[in-house]
Amino acid sequence: MTPLARLLVQRIRETGPITVADYMAECLLHPVHGYYTTRDPFGAAGDFTTAPEISQMFGELLGLALAQAWLDRGSPAPFTLAELGPGRGTLMADILRATRAVPGFQAAARIALVEVSPHLRQVQAATLSGHAPEWVDRIEDLPDRPLFLIANEFLDALPIRQFQHGPDGWQERLVGLRDGALTFGLSDPLPQVPDTPALRHAPEGALVEDNLTARIAVAEVSTRIARHGGVAYWIDYGGWRSQGDTLQALRQHKPDDPLAHPGKADLTAHVDFEPLAALAQAFAYDTQGAVLTRLGIDTRAERLSRNLTGAALESHRAAHRRLTAPTEMGSVFKMLAITSAGSPPPPGFA
Ligand code: SAH
Repeated sequence: MTPLARLLVQRIRETGPITVADYMAECLLHPVHGYYTTRDPFGAAGDFTTAPEISQMFGELLGLALAQAWLDRGSPAPFTLAELGPGRGTLMADILRATRAVPGFQAAARIALVEVSPHLRQVQAATLSGHAPEWVDRIEDLPDRPLFLIANEFLDALPIRQFQHGPDGWQERLVGLRDGALTFGLSDPLPQVPDTPALRHAPEGALVEDNLTARIAVAEVSTRIARHGGVAYWIDYGGWRSQGDTLQALRQHKPDDPLAHPGKADLTAHVDFEPLAALAQAFAYDTQGAVLTRLGIDTRAERLSRNLTGAALESHRAAHRRLTAPTEMGSVFKMLAITSAGSPPPPGFA
């Protein structure tokens, strides 16, 4: 048993089963034993890899998309260039390198990073040294000004609740104990569940997830963009009105039982974009592959490949495929861009 598993077993013994959301939050963000609080989970030596860690092209193209959106909105200055959950800081570093040549963009940008992990803040500080980013704990702490924001694989790390639609109504999936070990169970029937399209339209027998924390995050960003202008790109795996149990654990690049190693494995869930898009004044939604293709990834890939040979060229080609091919990240990853009413469409969408 991990140290966090021991604490959770004790807590459940004393006060009863906990929601999947409480379980996820403890596993990821417990101040002493939490997954993100204690480690750098990315790359070959870690547990998983993300798009910016796969290729510089991801951040370059999205950086130019943000800069174009900024130009389209009359180049407001100063503005906040924000990232939620920046991981190692690679995406922001690529954004800053790619936008260096956009006149006025970086002079007007105030870089803000929303990050809870003290450990990852240090990694980000090293990656972005020379750029003087500011860190805040919460989206609410971002300054009041035009906001150009990016969040890759942030929403999938926020805690979800799971609801089971049975003959007697809705029950919540809980984490409890059997023979002293963590196990899934169901609550008594609930008088009320969250009011989202996925729950409203669920057939009997369905398991439906709800991410209240993600809705709060997107609502906060949308309100700021409606008030001060700007655009936000959310990139994550998931879909539109997705259903079913998508809670998953990854440990050393392999699927793991979500209850097996609390605090030692990454826990995520697919993002249901439908209730998030509904919080924006205006939005655009498409697959990652389609958006990166419209932003010119094929041309950029070809340009970069001219300087490469042998194994480096092969790995560059594989990264291009991995980001865009429908059988890899191209379809399962989606992009949601939100903006204010009546403003120009976000770059990269049809
Ligand atoms: N965007 C990065 C990392 C994704 S992993 C990339 O694409 O590589 C998720 C990131 O979100 C980590 O940096 C993690 O520490 C951070 N995070 C998780 N929950 C958070 C929360 N509630 N508030 C702020 N940051 C959070």
